[in-house]
Amino acid sequence: MRITDLRIAVVARAPMTCPVIRIDTNQGIYGLGEVRDGASKNYALMLKSKLLNQNPCNVDRLFRRIKQFGNHSRQGGGVSGVEMALWDLAGKAYGVPVYQMLGGKFRDRIRIYADTTESPDPKVFGQRLKGRMDQGFTWLKMDLGVEMVANTPGAVTRPAGTSFAFGDTTQHMFTGMEITEKGAALMSDYVAAVREQVGMDVPLSADHFGHIGVNSCIRLGKALEKHNMAWLEDMIPWQYTDLLKKINDAVDIPILTGEDIYLKESFIELCRAHAVDIIHPDLATSGGILETKKIGDAAQELGLPMAMHFAGTPVSCMANVHCAAATENFLVMENHSVEVPWWGDLVNGVEKPIVNKGFITVPDKPGLGVTLNEEVVKQHLNPQDNGYFEPTTQWNIDRTNDRWWS
Ligand SMILES: [Mg+2]
Repeated sequence: MRITDLRIAVVARAPMTCPVIRIDTNQGIYGLGEVRDGASKNYALMLKSKLLNQNPCNVDRLFRRIKQFGNHSRQGGGVSGVEMALWDLAGKAYGVPVYQMLGGKFRDRIRIYADTTESPDPKVFGQRLKGRMDQGFTWLKMDLGVEMVANTPGAVTRPAGTSFAFGDTTQHMFTGMEITEKGAALMSDYVAAVREQVGMDVPLSADHFGHIGVNSCIRLGKALEKHNMAWLEDMIPWQYTDLLKKINDAVDIPILTGEDIYLKESFIELCRAHAVDIIHPDLATSGGILETKKIGDAAQELGLPMAMHFAGTPVSCMANVHCAAATENFLVMENHSVEVPWWGDLVNGVEKPIVNKGFITVPDKPGLGVTLNEEVVKQHLNPQDNGYFEPTTQWNIDRTNDRWWS
């Protein structure tokens, strides 16, 4: 079997914009993958010339060939999405589900946490989270940004005239924005009101704190300890291992990062330093299915569990599900699309609803276990992109000499 084509159909409002990859072969079977939400479809298309005429079943060999063309955050989306499609093809060619090729399952159902719309009123937001529990979700997550207290005098100290958007390249430590004791107490009161609704027994994670400095992260983290948060996510950029360790050492609830990290090496550095308590790869950035299993296994050896960041269509969702099934230290996986009525209809072949009472059943069909529902995908294409798997012959040839050594 050899690869004959790589084409893209970009789905919009899922609620994210997601380029779905189809890799065709000379044996009439195709593999599905997905570039990470928010990334350019070109991150996958630029790999086409390096994949044509190759046997897709040599997944790791092809991954090693293309992985130099990925990078952190969205730039990992092309390599990771192609890797998913190669596993889908290998599974279809040999008639086995992807989890089986990874060594088999640790679980039959994957625990899910769902994004939930915020409200300035903690009672309203608490009710929404309670609604998630009524739907069957067993792990909750909230956004908890300093913006919510910024208009209260004395809650946030910051240079006059700065906006919460900052510049593209201004990281948290460089904004001069610091939360006060009063601000931290107000945010803690908000969580207390939420906890009143959902109780203390359900894990409750928090994210999107805003671009506050390291000392403020510690001040806020300590104020949140009594609510026993399940994790505090991305308090500062993941690149600062020593600073994350400083936060992690000072705060007695789990610190987590990872959704923007490409490849296992940076995860291993964070785990070795115990700069976080939980890692959080996004499989569509981290390097795909096998690399993410390696990340999970490496973290497990150092005593850390793995939660999975995810935002995409059911194609990428199933890539995550197979990896989560086959990785022992998996905790819980994200889903942003519980309120998108047609999200599950994008694919056929799996149990519906895909997210059922807070869990996804691991599929047993070959490969990722899904086929595309062409009609539904066509109804939700992004108008700015080039239709439904249109030809991409302009990407067939790209003569380069890309080896990193001589
Ligand atoms: Mg996040």
